[in-house]
Amino acid sequence: MPIKSIKKAKNLSGKRVLVRVDFNVPIKNGKVLDGTRLLASIPTIEYLLERGAKVILVTHIGRPEGKTVAALSVTPVVKRLSELLKTNVGKIEIEEIKKKLKKLDSNQSLKSNSRSPHVVMLENIRFHPGEEKNDLTFAKELANLGDLFVLDGFAVAHRAAASVAGVAKYLPSYAGLLLEKEITGLERVTKRPKKPFTLVLGGAKMETKVPIMKYLLPKVSHILVGGGIVNTYLSARGYRVGDSLVDKKFKKIALALCKKKKVIIPLDVIVGDMKGKSYRRVLIGKKPHVICKKSEAILDVGPATIRLYAGYIKKAKTVVWNGAMGYFEQKPYHHGTLAIARLVASRSKGKAFGVIGGGETLQAMDMVGMGEYVDLISTGGGAMLEYLGGKKLPGIEALR
Ligand code: ADP
Ligand code: MG
Repeated sequence: MPIKSIKKAKNLSGKRVLVRVDFNVPIKNGKVLDGTRLLASIPTIEYLLERGAKVILVTHIGRPEGKTVAALSVTPVVKRLSELLKTNVGKIEIEEIKKKLKKLDSNQSLKSNSRSPHVVMLENIRFHPGEEKNDLTFAKELANLGDLFVLDGFAVAHRAAASVAGVAKYLPSYAGLLLEKEITGLERVTKRPKKPFTLVLGGAKMETKVPIMKYLLPKVSHILVGGGIVNTYLSARGYRVGDSLVDKKFKKIALALCKKKKVIIPLDVIVGDMKGKSYRRVLIGKKPHVICKKSEAILDVGPATIRLYAGYIKKAKTVVWNGAMGYFEQKPYHHGTLAIARLVASRSKGKAFGVIGGGETLQAMDMVGMGEYVDLISTGGGAMLEYLGGKKLPGIEALR
C-alpha cells in the first residue's frame, strides 16, 4: 500500500497535528550550528499552518538515553525555528499539553486556547525512556496529544521508536511533504528506474554498502565502486594493499559481488600516506600484485578510473550515488570523489534522475557547490542506506 500524503488529509482547520521531524542538529553554546534539517521540514509546517492546524513538533536531539540532559534540550532549536518561521514557537512538556487539553474538555471551548502559539515543540523526546523502546503506553500518551500524526523526518524512519512508529497505531497518520518527496524519489529509482541505471557506491562502512549492492544488483545496469569496497575486494583477490581500509569480515562477499559483470572496478588507484605528503598512481594489473608497500594505503581512485566512470555516468538515465571514492577530506585524495560529485550533478535534472545521500557524500557535494543540480538530495542518512538495501523501515511501514 502506498503511504498517504498529508495532501490527502481534509479539514485540517483547528486540528492538532503531531509532527515527528528530525531536528537532531549540531548545537554549540546554545546555538544551532547547521539549520539544514530545520529548513527541510518548514514546507510541511507551513502547509499545516496555512490550513489552520495547530502543530505540535516532536524531535530528538543526541542520545540522552531516557534521561533529562540539559545540554540536549530543544531550546536552541525552538529559538532558531521561531526565526525561520517568523512566528513564536512555544516549547512545551507533554504534561502541560495534557493539562490544557483537560481544561479544554471541561470548557468545551477551543477559543480559550487561541492566543497560544500555533506551533509548539515538545522537549527532547528521548528524555522519555519509552521513546526508544517504542513503549506502546507512551506512544498512546503521545497520540492523545493530537488528532492526526505526520511523519516528516525521513532520517528517523528506520527507528522503531514511539514517536516514529508506535504513535501511528493510534492516530490517522500521514507522510509530511519532506518524507513524501524522499520516498517518491527513492521509489522511482528502486521500483521503476529508467535504464541505463548507474549506481556509484563508495565509502567506508561495508555493513551498509553490501546490502545495497545485493539488493540493487538486479535492478541496475552498472555499479561503479570505490572506497572500502574496492580495497576489501582487492585484498580478497590476493593483491597486497598495505595499510588500506579493509573490512576482513566482508572479504568473501566483496569478492563475490565485485566479480559480477555489472560491477565496474577501478583501473587505477592513488596510494600514499594519510597526510598526503607522498603519493603515487598505481595501475591495477590483471594478476594480483603489490599495490601498496606496508606503510602505504589506497586512498583514492585514479584518473583512468575517473574517465572510465565518467563514461557510464554520462550515459545514465538514472544515477544514484552514495559513499566517497576515497579519503577526500585530505588533499590530494579528493579528486576522485569531487569528480564524481560534479559528474553526477551535471547529469542530473533532465538527462538523468539523480539521487545522492549519505553524510560524507553530501559533504563532498557541498565542497563542489553543485547540490542544486541534483534531483534528490536525501536527508535520510542511515534510513536511506537501509531503504536502498531493501529493508522495510518501521516509520514507513507504520504509515501504510
Ligand atoms: P556516507 O556517509 O556518504 O554514507 P561513509 O560514511 O560510508 O559514506 O564513508 C565516507 C568516508 O569514507 C569518508 O570519510 C572517506 O574519507 C572514507 N573513505 C572512502 N574511501 C576511503 C579509503 N580508500 N581510505 C580511507 N577512507 C576512505
Ligand atoms: Mg558516513
